[in-house]
Amino acid sequence: MPIEKTPTVRLDQFMQGALERYYHNKDPFGSQGDFTTAPEISQLFGEIIGIWAIQKWVEIGSPSNFNLIEIGPGRGTLMSDLLRGTKHINQFHTAANIHLVETSPTLKSKQKNTLNGYDIHWHDHLKSINTDLPVIVIANEFFDALPVRQFKFDGTQWLESYINDTGKIWVEVDHPPLKSTLTKANTGDIFEYSQAQKDYAKLLSTYHGAFLFIDYGYAKSTYGDSLQALYKHKPCAITEHVGNADLTTHVDFEWLGKQFAKRTTTLKTQAAFLKENGIDIRFQHLNNPDLNTGYRRLIAADEMGALFKVLEVTA
Ligand code: SAH
Repeated sequence: MPIEKTPTVRLDQFMQGALERYYHNKDPFGSQGDFTTAPEISQLFGEIIGIWAIQKWVEIGSPSNFNLIEIGPGRGTLMSDLLRGTKHINQFHTAANIHLVETSPTLKSKQKNTLNGYDIHWHDHLKSINTDLPVIVIANEFFDALPVRQFKFDGTQWLESYINDTGKIWVEVDHPPLKSTLTKANTGDIFEYSQAQKDYAKLLSTYHGAFLFIDYGYAKSTYGDSLQALYKHKPCAITEHVGNADLTTHVDFEWLGKQFAKRTTTLKTQAAFLKENGIDIRFQHLNNPDLNTGYRRLIAADEMGALFKVLEVTA
């Protein structure tokens, strides 16, 4: 039953406002922040993605001019490790136009420091990048940071999630959940839909080249409430610490892959991806005990290795 309260703001609009404030004002990463990402855990992460990028560049014919794009680059650490790790491949470096898509002024200025000395183009949105060139696109923990709408089936009809001063409420809507490809819903099932994810995926699917999307999420589309708020590494209510806590959802990788119709898509765990691209060899070669903990955290099944997934899209 709908709750007798005036809806104030739809969930995705609430998330949009909260996330804008969140990313605009703070550097959320690391032990002093709210969460830690793979590039901040170990240099091996960006270095191995560099090896992947070189392979993809060769596979698309080693173009002498291409766009190397990272969306949501955080502190710029992944790109810095990628560029350092590949610096001996001169032709790759000469051919790459490096583009970072970032909305946060705070993180943009961090990226400028981290990537000092490189010729980088910054964009607030992907739309402003020239699409005529082949691309290599990387997005680590980007799609999970985009706003979603939620719909719940109450046994007879769909309700939509809104936020008001009491927290999250469910309101009757006169339309079914948007484009659910899932089978019949049971009472209580929640369907998540992100227009922002859809818009990004649609635009990306018009580009030609190779794409790497890394995130935590579902291998198969499913119902579920995956929205989480994190403040100083601890879960909190989504209406607590608004604009100061991270809000994320699980990425539906089956859906994301389908947005790239007619391309080759492969989904694997982060551990499998890093191993296939040589993390063990790199780790042994560097032979530095300081890297042990980070190496384990990236690949261990009880850490990030199985929870995080990698979707690779190629021509
Ligand atoms: N890839 C980084 C950071 C992940 S956090 C890492 O792994 O460490 C999400 C990143 O996406 C941040 O850089 C954030 O500022 C950026 N971001 C969030 N919403 C965005 C949007 N709509 N457009 C572009 N960047 C966005």
